[in-house]
Amino acid sequence: MKVKLGTLLREFYSSQVLKKYAPQPLTSQDKLYFSLSKTKIMQRPTLFLFLLVFTIACHNPNPKPTASVIVHGGAGYVTTDEMTEQEEEETRATIEKSLQKSNEHLANGGTSVEAVQIAINILEDSTHFNAGKGSVFTSAGTHELDASIMNGENVQAGAVAGLTNIKNPIDAAIAVMEHSPHVFLIGKGAEEFAVAHGMETVPQSYFYNEDRYNEHIEDLHEKNKKFGTVGAVAIDKNGNIAAGTSTGGMTNKRFGRVGDVPVIGAGTYAENGVGGLSATGHGEYFIRNVATYDIAAQVKYGTSTLDEAGYHTLMEKLKNQGGDGGVIGLDKDGKVVIHFNTVAMPRGYINDKGETVVKIDQE
Ligand code: ASP
Repeated sequence: MKVKLGTLLREFYSSQVLKKYAPQPLTSQDKLYFSLSKTKIMQRPTLFLFLLVFTIACHNPNPKPTASVIVHGGAGYVTTDEMTEQEEEETRATIEKSLQKSNEHLANGGTSVEAVQIAINILEDSTHFNAGKGSVFTSAGTHELDASIMNGENVQAGAVAGLTNIKNPIDAAIAVMEHSPHVFLIGKGAEEFAVAHGMETVPQSYFYNEDRYNEHIEDLHEKNKKFGTVGAVAIDKNGNIAAGTSTGGMTNKRFGRVGDVPVIGAGTYAENGVGGLSATGHGEYFIRNVATYDIAAQVKYGTSTLDEAGYHTLMEKLKNQGGDGGVIGLDKDGKVVIHFNTVAMPRGYINDKGETVVKIDQE
């Protein structure tokens, strides 16, 4: 006897619907099913299933690219219209270099922590970003630098705050993670530790830069505020994810103030199976909202994707509180996450086709 799968499916479905809804009138879904069941498609189960799978597969109208490394150069209010041609070119070129060197290292089998370090070192050595050499001034006319790193493979982390003479704070954060039983070192103790682990020191004058000095003196109007922190997230060949962030803080911050960047879970978070994130913006809001962990937690304990969670935290939660900023990340499969509620956030990644994508504002 030839048994028709379509007939069986219809009968099974009808019996389930009748069982569940017997005392109640049919819902519009039931009616839709019954009217569909009379069409030709429903009488051809293979074709129906194929169309169903195809429709679901095509449902995401905006698939996110994947990448092995992504970086940011700080959320803020300086669009390309307000940059000189040279500034824009150099900003893009530095981000490109940072991505390419980091990506090369990953392609050669390097770890995600090393890739984050390479990417951030290049951004720290540029005057175009508020980290390392380009760090802003405190209200006292000094420079105090913060940085952090997190390794998603073993959820180990390292952070430093209030550094005044270390050239590349991200290196010091990595040293804390890898060579100390601690997570967070500050001030003189952090510097002494960094020097003991071979980190390069520089005088405070190394961080002097005329533009930053003018910002400090003029105390730029809020609207023009450029945050400028740098950050990177990488995923290596073994699927291990790391995230790092480095900053000079906020222009004219009170000396001694520490922002979100070195606070694990606020400015930086990474965990294999969840993703990696680096934030930028008005640090106090990111600390109060434990922003990067808040994003990760929505994935860990809920059903959100990292991208949806990032949108919720940045574009709804923080934005509603007046917390300006942005976040970049890679999810467990390397899917790119980018959200910012300011008008600009220099950023870039190398996509799975090997193309380097660099953007500055809403472009
Ligand atoms: N988040 C940094 C801070 O508050 C500033 C920035 O992102 O530029 O220190």
